[in-house]
Amino acid sequence: MRNCLACNTPLVGRIDKKFCDYNCRNAHHNFLNQPSNNQLTKINRQLIKNHRILQEFIDGDVRSIPLSVLKAMGYNEDLRTSVVDDPNDGRIYFIYDISYQQNESEIVLVTKELETYRQTA
Ligand SMILES: [Zn+2]
Repeated sequence: MRNCLACNTPLVGRIDKKFCDYNCRNAHHNFLNQPSNNQLTKINRQLIKNHRILQEFIDGDVRSIPLSVLKAMGYNEDLRTSVVDDPNDGRIYFIYDISYQQNESEIVLVTKELETYRQTA
């Protein structure tokens, strides 16, 4: 199976697919087009790392993860790609396609997609 060139997640769908989605395609092109040590590249790398770490827990069917465990794996809790305040579900954070809630001690993964919130907002 091929993996996404940006975040290394296994790809599903078309055989010539190279990225999970638009965001990973952008992240990869930004990565290629920037000098290696600039701030944008550092942030993109950390976002992709965060995504990869959360994806490991999703793949293992783990939904609640202590922040202490995530930080030990190199996760940066301050970086995400979107935030939505849902009237029913509360504040939902996104790292690309992965959605979660966060409190002072843990991250709880949720399964809704960003479009779900945009359509109901
Ligand atoms: Zn990806």
